[in-house]
Amino acid sequence: MPPASTPIPGDDPVNPLHSLPIEFVGSFPSPDVRLDPPQPEIALVGRSNVGKSSLLNALVGRRQIARVSGTPGKTTLLNAYRLPGFYLVDLPGYGFARASKRDRQTYRRLLDGYLAQRAELAGVVWLLDIRHDPSEEDWTVQEQLAASGRPVLVALTKSDKLGRQAQQARTERLTALLGLADDQVQATSSRTGSGLSTLGASIFALVQAEKGA
Ligand code: GDP
Repeated sequence: MPPASTPIPGDDPVNPLHSLPIEFVGSFPSPDVRLDPPQPEIALVGRSNVGKSSLLNALVGRRQIARVSGTPGKTTLLNAYRLPGFYLVDLPGYGFARASKRDRQTYRRLLDGYLAQRAELAGVVWLLDIRHDPSEEDWTVQEQLAASGRPVLVALTKSDKLGRQAQQARTERLTALLGLADDQVQATSSRTGSGLSTLGASIFALVQAEKGA
């Protein structure tokens, strides 16, 4: 198997993030970590097992820059990746099955701290499984994101699990439930690559907006 940083040929070439050079910067326990050099950041946020690692890998066209796990579990670290002109910051997954009240509070504080402290945060990509309405923990995250005023894109994951009509119906329902604009919500599949070019373009636009700000 080629190294994790080698682009996979043939994947969604119009996605602007695909095949960009990408480098793992490190894992950090605290949201106030300084990344060097400072440049815009895009955060990835989602429930454990929603498909966050798979989406990150698929977006940048790498087999395993982020680790895909069969067993959802507790990670409390932020993982930062450097690309030309911006960072992708993968926040820990929330809402894993055995999470205690204290785990939930810890996550809540981490996310609030991250949203408040990152001067370079260009936007958040929030992942939801296209098949399910938001859970209680998803709604908590939704409130935190809304309160932060940060730009948000929603990636609906695992769209390959539904037929085309059901995908459209679920996308419309979730967009309405969350009170978002159509262009903030994108159905995606890491398995087929569907939706990745649109999501990649939206992420790219947020980075450019932050640079122009
Ligand atoms: P994370 O915990 O959010 O990082 O989720 P992972 O990326 O590790 O994926 C969790 C599980 O969902 C794994 O079994 C993946 O193979 C599966 N998965 C992730 N993305 C997709 C997708 O687009 N389609 C399908 N069918 N399965 C997916």
